[in-house]
Amino acid sequence: MLLTVDDDPSVSRAVARDLRRRYGQDHQVLRAASGAEALDALREIKLRGGRVAVMLADYRMPEMSGIEFLEAAMDLFPRARRALLTAYADTDAAIAAINLVDVDYYLLKPWEPPEEKLYPIVDAMLEAYTGQPDVEMAETKLIGHRWSVPSFAARDFLARNAVPYRWIAADEPEGGRLLQAADLGAQTLPVVITADGGTLVAPSTTELATAVGLSTTPATDFYDLVVVGGGPAGLGAAVYGASEGLRTLLVERQATGGQAGQSSRIENYLGFPDGVSGAQLTDRARRQAVRFGTEILTTRDVSGLEARGPARVVSFGDGTEVAAHAVIIATGVSYRDLEAPGVAELSGRGVYYGSAATEAAACADADVFIVGGANSAGQAASFFSRYAKSVTLVVRGDSLERGMSYYLIEQLQALDNVSVRLCTVVDQAHGDEHLERLSLRHVPSGATEQVPASYLFVFIGAQPRTDWLAGVLERDRRGFLLTGPDLLVDGQRPRGWLADRDPWPLEASVPGVFVAGDVRAESVKRVASAVGEGAMAVTLAHRYLGAP
Ligand SMILES: Cc1cc2nc3c(=O)[nH]c(=O)nc-3n(C[C@H](O)[C@H](O)[C@H](O)COP(=O)(O)OP(=O)(O)OC[C@H]3O[C@@H](n4cnc5c(N)ncnc54)[C@H](O)[C@@H]3O)c2cc1C
Repeated sequence: MLLTVDDDPSVSRAVARDLRRRYGQDHQVLRAASGAEALDALREIKLRGGRVAVMLADYRMPEMSGIEFLEAAMDLFPRARRALLTAYADTDAAIAAINLVDVDYYLLKPWEPPEEKLYPIVDAMLEAYTGQPDVEMAETKLIGHRWSVPSFAARDFLARNAVPYRWIAADEPEGGRLLQAADLGAQTLPVVITADGGTLVAPSTTELATAVGLSTTPATDFYDLVVVGGGPAGLGAAVYGASEGLRTLLVERQATGGQAGQSSRIENYLGFPDGVSGAQLTDRARRQAVRFGTEILTTRDVSGLEARGPARVVSFGDGTEVAAHAVIIATGVSYRDLEAPGVAELSGRGVYYGSAATEAAACADADVFIVGGANSAGQAASFFSRYAKSVTLVVRGDSLERGMSYYLIEQLQALDNVSVRLCTVVDQAHGDEHLERLSLRHVPSGATEQVPASYLFVFIGAQPRTDWLAGVLERDRRGFLLTGPDLLVDGQRPRGWLADRDPWPLEASVPGVFVAGDVRAESVKRVASAVGEGAMAVTLAHRYLGAP
């Protein structure tokens, strides 16, 4: 990658344009408007295992000078070649910086024509970069057993949090060598070796998160806004909250992205005419939230909410808490369990909830079964058909049209290796170490058949996990949170309602607590509506903060 930093938008655009014209085919050109923004981008790149060959920074920038930026950037990418962009008047200072921070070149603005004044220098820097001895890139290594549930959980966690890592099976020679080097046996899997050489044996997700640099403890104990849940609704709220100047904390139990993060292809979200994978959408949203200043905590499960005077306090399982002026609950829904003998025992060993994209490569030439008749199941069938020998959709209902969008049904019909079994349920899952067979029952006839099956992905509807809010916020019969006008019964405000007004739309039964996305009663279960509600909840939080 080539990175340019300049606070003057027209200069920044011009540098990036000139660089792209000449190097765009082989290199990605990134631009940032400040040193801080560029450092954030570099941290991201580092985490994803990217490589930065050249950095061009403007000498005179308001908050962080080009020299300060390059100095900090060297800690992240010491091998990248560095140049300062300067005006003629700053030439002396720039020359001094060559010695001070080991800058390779300085470039006088304007550099017209680039063929003469810019490209020869960048060419030289690229040559210097590629000429250096290739050091092995530091990376996190995960050594585990292919069919072990904790090994799968660690892989899934790293993948869903976009942490680059190398998976090494314990029975491969390299796995054996690493375990030997760490003086460990195969009974203690998974083992994680971090980029700086630290070793973690069978870590909890919080230990793993901390080791790979994901934040797990809040920086302070009071925020303007705490958002609980990092799916589309929570990320939407975080982007709008932080961009509008609220000190915002986002708390996520597992990995940002929520259900959408597990989607192999979202085709109906505005602005992505060719579809976008849930992982890509999540990555962009998370970076956007962080860029605006959101603090994100991962692997922290919020387990309590309390109104303490004007503060809204959320607490964690370990007894710690953070307070805020306003809280947005965006905890979405989780998959319902498939109740059939053998399914729970084989979960993580061939049986998965959600699409488990990490398993895609392992599905090559396998018989894959998907339970469910909604869009999520259809997307998964289409996704796994690219890898598997056969994909069978097991649907309880008597037609696909009832639960699936027309475009997906058409897609599936065009795929040779996808078949659909209607009016059918999974009666039992069989296997020792891994799923081997399924018993399927045709409901109208009662006929049962055993079929070979290596993988079963379950998509059978979802439920809100709001037990921790019982007695705190009003819920409907199924546990979804009630908001706004839905809270009024015969015109009466909810029990214990503290404000001298009716609840606003999206506001829960405690003033200053708002609800967005799938967890809200009567919400539309879609990415776009979740994001929209997240944004709207922020507007209402502003109104609440400004209210007398
Ligand atoms: C496979 C699949 C494919 C889909 N495809 C599409 C599609 O193509 N188009 C479309 O519009 N919609 C699609 N959907 C639906 C869409 O993903 C959801 O409507 C959307 O994700 C809802 O967003 P949300 O933020 O409300 O909740 P979620 O996405 O469910 O996110 C909630 C988040 O909160 C976290 N959380 C829960 N409890 C706590 C707690 N106590 N403390 C901290 N964190 C907590 C969870 O870990 C989760 O990350 C799909 C869903 C699935 C499962």
